[in-house]
Amino acid sequence: MKIKVLGCSGAEFPGHNPPAFLLDDDIVFDAGSLTNTLDASEQAKLKNIFITHAHLDHIRGISFLADNIIVAKRKQRVNIISIPSVLNTIKKNLLNDSLWPDFTMIPDYENAVLRYKAMKAGSLIRIRNYNIALHKVNHSVPAVGYLVEDGNKKSFFYTGDTGPTASTWEKIGDRKLNCLIIETSFPNKMRDMAVLTGHLTPQLLKEEIMKIKQMPEHIYITHPKPQHFKVIKAELERLKIKNLKLLKDGDIIRI
Ligand SMILES: [Zn+2]
Ligand SMILES: [Zn+2]
Repeated sequence: MKIKVLGCSGAEFPGHNPPAFLLDDDIVFDAGSLTNTLDASEQAKLKNIFITHAHLDHIRGISFLADNIIVAKRKQRVNIISIPSVLNTIKKNLLNDSLWPDFTMIPDYENAVLRYKAMKAGSLIRIRNYNIALHKVNHSVPAVGYLVEDGNKKSFFYTGDTGPTASTWEKIGDRKLNCLIIETSFPNKMRDMAVLTGHLTPQLLKEEIMKIKQMPEHIYITHPKPQHFKVIKAELERLKIKNLKLLKDGDIIRI
């Protein structure tokens, strides 16, 4: 498995893109940075976009991608996959023919550029040789993380945005993840804010990792606030967790 980090930031500044992770060349997890990081031919390969939750920094790329497909007159269908409440928020508030066109009806329903695919938390979808399962996480809005396993039983779990959660790790069970991509948004001094808004600090991250039965082989940190990047980085280093790495845009993860 090859994952390209298109964006892994908890806010937007030059050089700090909102979250999007490209698996191989056709599957994306979160859509914070699609059209600003992928060129036209790379955009043309996208088929499935998994959304963790409907916050703007995780969905906004859907709108510009759909527009680019129409303008290029490409026969391309992209599935937008998530739990029903996430898709409903996108439908009602983003692709609502007011803020942006409803690309699930353009040019018409049958040939539409986008199609919603609703899935229940706890369910599983198979795409090529991947089994992709949705597991609830704990954020300020309904949100899921994605557990991906390939035919060789290699696996990763991407949390999206989450605060402390026990049930998510119970679902992971005693499986040994090859890779955990988990958020850490705030420095330790902002613990209250993190808990209130459904995010983690380095200390909270450590407490989460203690809940996982088998230590993941590699832990990659996403979604830090660039304004607090240095402090978060130093606090993460002080945790002395083996094989933990703070991601940056453009990184490639091989599993
Ligand atoms: Zn969020
Ligand atoms: Zn976010």
